[in-house]
Amino acid sequence: MHRLQSYLAGQWQTGQGDGTPLIDPSSGATLALAGALGLSRAAALEHARRVGGPALRAMTLRQRGAALKALSAAIHAQREPLIDLGVANAGNTRGDAKFDIDGATGTLAAYAALAAELPERGFLSDGPGQALGRSPRFWGQHVWVPRHGVAVHVNAFNFPAWGLCEKMACALLAGVPVLEKPGTPTALMAERIAHIIVDSGALPPGAFSFLCGEAGDLLDHLGPQDTVAFTGSSATAHVFRAHAAFARRGARLNVEADSLNAVVAGPDVASGSATFDLLVRDTAREVTQKAGQKCTATRRVCVPAALLPELAEALSAEIGNVKVGDPREDGVRMGPLTNPAQLQSVQEGIRRLAGAARVVRGGPEALRPRGCFVAATLLAAADAAAPVFHAEEVFGPVATLLPFDGSPATAARLVALGEGGLVASVYSDDKDFSIATALELAPWSGRLYLASERMAEHGTGAGTVLPQMVHGGPGRAGGGEELGGLRGLSLYMQRTAIQGFKSVVEGAFGAPAPASATAG
Ligand code: NAP
Repeated sequence: MHRLQSYLAGQWQTGQGDGTPLIDPSSGATLALAGALGLSRAAALEHARRVGGPALRAMTLRQRGAALKALSAAIHAQREPLIDLGVANAGNTRGDAKFDIDGATGTLAAYAALAAELPERGFLSDGPGQALGRSPRFWGQHVWVPRHGVAVHVNAFNFPAWGLCEKMACALLAGVPVLEKPGTPTALMAERIAHIIVDSGALPPGAFSFLCGEAGDLLDHLGPQDTVAFTGSSATAHVFRAHAAFARRGARLNVEADSLNAVVAGPDVASGSATFDLLVRDTAREVTQKAGQKCTATRRVCVPAALLPELAEALSAEIGNVKVGDPREDGVRMGPLTNPAQLQSVQEGIRRLAGAARVVRGGPEALRPRGCFVAATLLAAADAAAPVFHAEEVFGPVATLLPFDGSPATAARLVALGEGGLVASVYSDDKDFSIATALELAPWSGRLYLASERMAEHGTGAGTVLPQMVHGGPGRAGGGEELGGLRGLSLYMQRTAIQGFKSVVEGAFGAPAPASATAG
């Protein structure tokens, strides 16, 4: 049986013991084993700090950006075999796998493009400098410098490519070596990407490490200059938060966790209108893409009570057009869940929701005797505020329609019952409703997607995370923040205030004048 490898301390290594079987969720066949028993996490971290950190810090921001560009191209060149791995090991349709892989290479390329505009040095100035006393001689300037630790990236199983590359792009551009730990169930694609990265030679020695399998004692070896960016469930996030690495030793932790992402339909949206059709199309996609195993997938749809019957009918029909099955079969647009544990958890979740709602389409039954197939499921609540709709994320193709009175305040109250989310959407052509709802929702949401007829053909849908905009959310969503252009680098850098004689401080640490201003 093929055993996946880890790349630690500059060497490909294989763990001892049996390892975890990685399966094809369409057939149940075992594809490979992943395990990292007996591999030294401490030595890997030390190598990254001692070798990778100094090498990256010796590069300018633009040079690091050029490395990201080379990585993007190297991964893109292997797109077809990577898609095959997503189909086999994650139950992805080809479209789902492309979404993951193109998200990965697109984010690397976006950060490479951003870096091309940055100064030829290794740190960033933070805003303009300023006089600190009555004399302009005493000057202050904030700077961002790379931390001297390792960026440890612990990822969820659902985006083996994108999750790894979006975190890596920010850390490497900041000048910090990475140790990537993918979610084990879908590690086949992540391990292939790790080989591509190492083989590309784009990064200096020590800048990239890859731990394939269980985390083991990884966190025990982290210190005050290290950063962990974690993506996964709230339950695992609790374990991380309580760990001494963060609670006592001062390592930095960023958490991206669960989210019951909500859609709000405005009272102006009429059945058959362009905005209604957009709402139906977008919601069906955000429920079924990647079989709903997307952190940004739509879970709750707040709809004015009068519109609920028509929206239920239209959404049910749209979702019914999505053929479910083995992604290798013709016409299939939704594959299986990733493994039997996920299937069981989603079935239990649907049963819980169905205890308080009418099942409009789908249900908890497994669709096939073999494999991890469940129907895309739409429910309609009578009591929109019932806790079951807001308390627990069902990580599959499942959404509930929640009737409300059409006011921004009620919509916000319902959305807030989810205790903080990654993204919420508003569908309305009434500008005043959209703005009022956005302001109510903003404290509970990392991102807001305001959809209307006028941008229907131009938007990506709420489920697509863009490198220019921040990703993360308050409360249940973890309280973390990633991406957002240069904002994403700050997790891996120290902001330091530098005070002193103006010509020294401004000359060495101030933002260099743009090329056009110095050109003549
Ligand atoms: P998970 O079970 O929490 O695992 C996430 C990662 O943590 C995996 O790499 C896992 O490794 C590792 N892990 C688990 N227990 C650990 C421990 N005690 N110490 C160190 N590492 C540990 O989540 P998942 O099932 O992979 O992913 C699904 C969840 O992720 C969903 O709740 C989803 O909403 C969330 N998610 C959030 C975002 C976001 O951006 N907010 C994005 C994607 C997914 P193993 O796989 O080896 O166990």
